[in-house]
Amino acid sequence: QQEWDRFTASTGASHDEYQRASKVLPLGVTSSFQHWDPYPISIASARGAWLTDVDGRKLLDLSMGFGAMLVGHLNPTVVEHVEHALREVGTLFVTPSPVSTEVAELYQERFGLDMLRFTQSGTESLMYAVRAARAYTGRKAIVKIEGGYHGGYDALQVSVKPALEDIGPAEAPIPEVPFDVEAGTVHVVPYNDLPYLERMLSEHGRDIAAVVMEPVIENLAIVLPDEGYLAGVRQACDAHGVLLILDEVKTGLTAGYAGASQRLGVKPDLITLAKSIGGGLPLAAFGGTSEVMEVVVDGRMAHFGTYNGNPLVMAAAKAVHEVCTREALQGAEDINVRALEALDAVIDEFELPAHTVSLGVKGCVTWATAPVRNYRDYKATDFAVAELSWLWGVNRQILTPPGLDEQWLVSLAHTQDDMDGLVTHYRELAQALR
Ligand code: PLP
Repeated sequence: QQEWDRFTASTGASHDEYQRASKVLPLGVTSSFQHWDPYPISIASARGAWLTDVDGRKLLDLSMGFGAMLVGHLNPTVVEHVEHALREVGTLFVTPSPVSTEVAELYQERFGLDMLRFTQSGTESLMYAVRAARAYTGRKAIVKIEGGYHGGYDALQVSVKPALEDIGPAEAPIPEVPFDVEAGTVHVVPYNDLPYLERMLSEHGRDIAAVVMEPVIENLAIVLPDEGYLAGVRQACDAHGVLLILDEVKTGLTAGYAGASQRLGVKPDLITLAKSIGGGLPLAAFGGTSEVMEVVVDGRMAHFGTYNGNPLVMAAAKAVHEVCTREALQGAEDINVRALEALDAVIDEFELPAHTVSLGVKGCVTWATAPVRNYRDYKATDFAVAELSWLWGVNRQILTPPGLDEQWLVSLAHTQDDMDGLVTHYRELAQALR
């Protein structure tokens, strides 16, 4: 309670903003993920790794737009490219422009894709990837991971955060949208359980178009695949003519130069990208083998979008590609690794019931001693301490992701000093918990 009192005492202007916004925006926000109790902090501006809230406080941003701000806020190269587009090029033509081909070629090379299309959001990319898989296979059903989030598309808004008392021992698909619109077409499997997936595909494979999953689950903090799991998923899909869609909306460039699939050595049929590739502008993509993407060419599926590949967003995409070199990403990852080592030392010293998990430039502290391998393990972690840790940070000007299911991101703008701040945060919290 003391920490909540401290929170409300220092966020009066955010509170007023929230009151005003709630009269016009449901929950006072433009995406329900932006809402938290009792009210969210309202941000006035940002630069590099730092936010300034409407109360004039500076906050170290470790949330970084759910990972979208990999290059840092107001990255100078992004600003330069976008400014050039705004002043000299134009923002929307709805006819082809060389810049979209140029960015597509860069991604073709970088992510090892034969063909791709641009969209505005991860949700859209997932919707089209599923459509492409259905068009290609002529099958309707899909498989998703229990606890996996893939955006707001109805078919994937199933068993995202099911209450444990609803799901029982077997993975029942729980639609989280009205009218169960896609009921009967979605199968739900636990992550890291290959025999379960193999049984599912043996039973229903003939009707299944695709398995959709994040290669590393980054909507349950961070859950890593067991050794051999992803290779096994790939094989099981192949055995049943089922496509593998790897959702790299969150992993993407934050997992390495060419995303998590290349880092972990698994080749999907389709991949979805968003967040980190756009430098803060709404850019997403889906792509894969030319064999599958042919469905767009021959008309088996439609893909449209007024804003797709517009020159403004493409300018940001080029800048992000330019800035996110292997060396730059490695530099940020090295900072992350040093911070993780220091955090592990704090966990050991204070014998905290916790452990760190990381991938590339992202990391998290999971409040459990045993490894978390799937949604049910994750739900058994200590959310009360996780929330206290978040609140403790906010009250000391460190904003880790407000959704406890997220992870921190070391952007290209963060320094080792910034991350030392996070280590100090955990040390002080550990002392207080003693
Ligand atoms: N896929 C994953 C794994 C995500 O985490 C998200 C969003 O957080 C999405 C898809 C949806 O992306 P967007 O919010 O851009 O629609």
